[in-house]
Amino acid sequence: MIKIKQKETTQTKENKSVSTQITIIGGGLAGLACSIRLARAGIKVILIEKNTYPFHKVCGEYISNEALEYVKSLGVNPFDFGAVALDKFWLSSPSGNKLELDLPLGGFGISRYTLDYELSKIAKKEGVDIWEGVFVKDVNKGMEIGNWELENTNENNSSENKFLIETSNGTIESQIIIGSYGKRSNLDNKLQRDFSSKNFPYIGVKYHLKTNLMPDNVIALHNFWRGYCGISRIEDDKFCFCYLSHKDNITDFKKVEEIEKQLFTENPFLSKILKEAEFLYDKPEIINQVSFSPKKLIEDDVLMCGDSAGMITPLCGNGMAMALHSSKILSDLLIQHFDNQIDFNTLKKHYQKRWTKQFQLRLKAGRTVQHFFGGRQSSEILINTFKYIPSLARKVVSLTHGKEF
Ligand SMILES: Cc1cc2nc3c(=O)[nH]c(=O)nc-3n(C[C@H](O)[C@H](O)[C@H](O)COP(=O)(O)OP(=O)(O)OC[C@H]3O[C@@H](n4cnc5c(N)ncnc54)[C@H](O)[C@@H]3O)c2cc1C
Repeated sequence: MIKIKQKETTQTKENKSVSTQITIIGGGLAGLACSIRLARAGIKVILIEKNTYPFHKVCGEYISNEALEYVKSLGVNPFDFGAVALDKFWLSSPSGNKLELDLPLGGFGISRYTLDYELSKIAKKEGVDIWEGVFVKDVNKGMEIGNWELENTNENNSSENKFLIETSNGTIESQIIIGSYGKRSNLDNKLQRDFSSKNFPYIGVKYHLKTNLMPDNVIALHNFWRGYCGISRIEDDKFCFCYLSHKDNITDFKKVEEIEKQLFTENPFLSKILKEAEFLYDKPEIINQVSFSPKKLIEDDVLMCGDSAGMITPLCGNGMAMALHSSKILSDLLIQHFDNQIDFNTLKKHYQKRWTKQFQLRLKAGRTVQHFFGGRQSSEILINTFKYIPSLARKVVSLTHGKEF
């Protein structure tokens, strides 16, 4: 393991100036999982999250079981915090035509409020320096590392990869940066990522609610015009109700309440939930500019992880498992790197290869299937085809999911 001797750092309450080996930008599942594994390997990590834990996040909150053992290995058993097992899938078209399927691997439901919070507590316990409520403004490459003396480095180590990270709470000098800041962030513009100047046509909306209209073990995906809505159980007898809508619905109806009033009533399942369920938020969590475009995995030596590296369409219910899986691949390689087993260029090559092998096909399959959702006719055709050829439905599920990791 590389030895690091810390020189004095200056620090004031409001404006810190510190140095570290790895800085992780974004404390969602990808960032938190990386931070825990790296800290356990003795690597000095700062994780920056613009919100303060616990907090709500737009997400369907269904996690594929492929990630369960990994989450447990991080120190959180979701079932200790009220997670609910989900093994059936319902899919309905706007007219109410419904398909029912068993989910071979299945998953579990738990809120991001709880899961991210519990992981953040483990990260702190493992020694991760979490800067909560701190916003990363910019990232600059090619800085001299002034506050760290590297002992036993060899020529192949990453000492040439020096970054200066500007935050709302001061600056950080860092050898390596992990970009785990999610689907879209100011940093995409700063890093001039290919897709950053484009507009993306989706908004995401989430509520928690209570209802007796849904069985506990079902994840349902109900289509409406130009969108689809997932509903499934989470902890404390609550359900997560989360939808993705094309922004043309906002253009036409102006407000999300109006989209729900005008379009959800067409689908009998959504209509009933809207009328009878007890909605627990005063107002929903909303995000816009949701992008499923291919992204570059490594931008100017910033190692992307989770949604920052590529986001699967939410209908697949696999984004969280992928974010966690990518954190495993990346943190394994970083641990080898800081143990002087591989240099930074080899790390980048391996990361690109393993990530592509694991996720590229899934992302493509997700983008393809998404075309059939949110249309009155297309979702009807899809459901009838799946009813007629159930093996095709199972094939699509397997193409958009991975194996346990
Ligand atoms: C509508 C919708 C429904 C979904 N449903 C599901 C589902 O049911 N199952 C599933 O598996 N996946 C689902 N997903 C996908 C899933 O939410 C993501 O794949 C997952 O959250 C990715 O985790 P992450 O750690 O990469 O990013 P995130 O969880 O988004 O975390 C990124 C973090 O970075 C922080 N951040 C951003 N910019 C900065 C900055 N400049 N400075 C500091 N912090 C910053 C953010 O505050 C955030 O906490 C859904 C997505 C959408 C949009």
